[in-house]
Amino acid sequence: MVDFGFSEEEEVFRETLRELLSEVLAPRAREIDNKCRIPDEVIKALAENGILLLTVKPEYGGQGASWVMGTIATEELARADPSVATAVFHLVEASWGKIVERYAKPELAKEILSKAARGEGFVGINSTEPQSGSDVAGFKTLAKKEDGYWVLNGEKTFISGIVEAKELDGGYVTLVKTKPEAGSRGMSIVWLPINSPGIETGLFEDMGRCGISTGWMRLNNVKIPEDYVIGEVNEGFGIAMEGFNRARVFVAAGCTGSAMGMFDYTREYVKNRVVFNRSLASFEGIQFPLVDYYSKLEATRLVIYKAAWMIDQFDQGNVTLKEAGQWAAMAKLLAPELSVDAIKEFMKATGAYGYTKDTPLEMALRGVMSYYVGAEGGQNIMRLIVGRFLFGKEHLPYKK
Ligand SMILES: Cc1cc2nc3c(=O)[nH]c(=O)nc-3n(C[C@H](O)[C@H](O)[C@H](O)COP(=O)(O)OP(=O)(O)OC[C@H]3O[C@@H](n4cnc5c(N)ncnc54)[C@H](O)[C@@H]3O)c2cc1C
Repeated sequence: MVDFGFSEEEEVFRETLRELLSEVLAPRAREIDNKCRIPDEVIKALAENGILLLTVKPEYGGQGASWVMGTIATEELARADPSVATAVFHLVEASWGKIVERYAKPELAKEILSKAARGEGFVGINSTEPQSGSDVAGFKTLAKKEDGYWVLNGEKTFISGIVEAKELDGGYVTLVKTKPEAGSRGMSIVWLPINSPGIETGLFEDMGRCGISTGWMRLNNVKIPEDYVIGEVNEGFGIAMEGFNRARVFVAAGCTGSAMGMFDYTREYVKNRVVFNRSLASFEGIQFPLVDYYSKLEATRLVIYKAAWMIDQFDQGNVTLKEAGQWAAMAKLLAPELSVDAIKEFMKATGAYGYTKDTPLEMALRGVMSYYVGAEGGQNIMRLIVGRFLFGKEHLPYKK
């Protein structure tokens, strides 16, 4: 049976959240972008209302919410803060927190996740290195076991939430090599508290989503306890792929959430703007492109919610991660590119005004661009994933 409707619980959740965010987040969106910081009161309000780490089980501090619910939350956060900074803060934690819940030792998971769910911690992802972004398995950071500890050496870069993690004394789901000669079969995942001795950090000045920092870290003989390993040693690749697939669904929802918010903004503007004695909206040259982008955004939202539903099916054991991942990749492929194009069109419709910081449009454009250029996987990588599914391993556009 095909059913495109949300359940009553999901509808009520969206409505209640939209109302909450219109009070606590939307009025502060410009401030978040200007000051490059999500105010503590916003984080507190999200925590008190059970939004942070909502996908994690209640015994770990979350709500045990489905991926569809998490997707609704991401969309609504990006509508209220179209720079997507607050949505990113939520989605990184909800996606990689789920990995901590599923694969870390229960005591460790409880400690990390319950703190983060209260808004008093941070869970990030630490994968990219200077020489390996898209080529996930090509990274070099080493973890060696010594006297009951893992000792880490290497460098990670373009990592979201460095400032937030340090201030909240949080940490990162970190990809390390434990058997470098074995390639992707020699990868493990560990929990790395950001304030561990031996970590040097620095920041980038990003063009958008300024409310959440991005930076790098150098690891010089950083020691973490042996039981901070997440999952089995040398089996980190599959777990990392699961995390990326989970995150990509939310990323896509962040992009369309921001773009849909900007559609609403633009629709009101063109209805009220009078040129040549008529509303701007009444000109075909303005109305039709807006209709086209609205329709494409709605079509993409269907793919995103199918992808979220597929992740829920994966969690229930009904589909494989590969099957769910194909939908996650399609959602991540479609949403950032469409959202960038849509917001550019919305800017055009608002004329010179749209080019100013008096509108949220430029902030939204700068924000969704982060996913267009590659955060949580570049666009061509999404094409490779879907292409591999459609054409099979024997027609890969690269050599294995
Ligand atoms: C704002 C922001 C936040 C980020 N946050 C995090 C984070 O929290 N944690 C983290 O680990 N990483 C993070 N990243 C890094 C992100 O995951 C990488 O940018 C991404 O994986 C792409 O890697 P790269 O930038 O090194 O690009 P490259 O791998 O150098 O790729 C460059 C371009 O080439 C394309 N390309 C690569 N390989 C192929 C191929 N085989 N065929 C065709 N095209 C190809 C890519 O799609 C991309 O467009 C963040 C990035 C940004 C922009």
